[in-house]
Amino acid sequence: MEKTLAMIKPDGLRGNYTERIKGAIVESGFRILEERIVELDEDRASRFYAEHSSRSFFPNLVKYMTSGPVCIMVLEKQNAIADWRALIGPTDSVKAKATHPNSIRAMCGLDSEKNCVHGSDSLLSAQREISFFFEEETES
Ligand code: ATP
Repeated sequence: MEKTLAMIKPDGLRGNYTERIKGAIVESGFRILEERIVELDEDRASRFYAEHSSRSFFPNLVKYMTSGPVCIMVLEKQNAIADWRALIGPTDSVKAKATHPNSIRAMCGLDSEKNCVHGSDSLLSAQREISFFFEEETES
């Protein structure tokens, strides 16, 4: 069975969307295998989004991701990676509201930065991101 990493970003937690998001997750047939609230510091947020480090929005992205706690979940289901990406909708929440009105980002995202949730975009990123949160801290 496939696993993916899902995250409710700081705006999602602040806006009290956690229960609605978890309801949508379970209704869509995912099993929540792990769940943890963490606070990312600058170093950890930068490493998580390292692939975007040269983008102009990167400093703001790090600020946003360190602005409050996030909820990390490991979701399991057949086709979990693509299905979770489909359920969250497009990166830009304004576009999500227009084209994917039933998506999670349409429900609780604000724009292309504050988009409420994250989902791994490939098998490789799912493996990297799950171990980033659930194995890394036991290594040292
Ligand atoms: P995520 O990786 O968080 O699931 P995504 O895969 O839909 O999002 P990416 O292109 O990987 O989108 O961007 C990572 C994150 O960087 C986005 O979720 C968003 O918070 C932020 N971001 C992306 N594009 C922009 C932009 N043009 N302006 C501001 N922030 C952006």
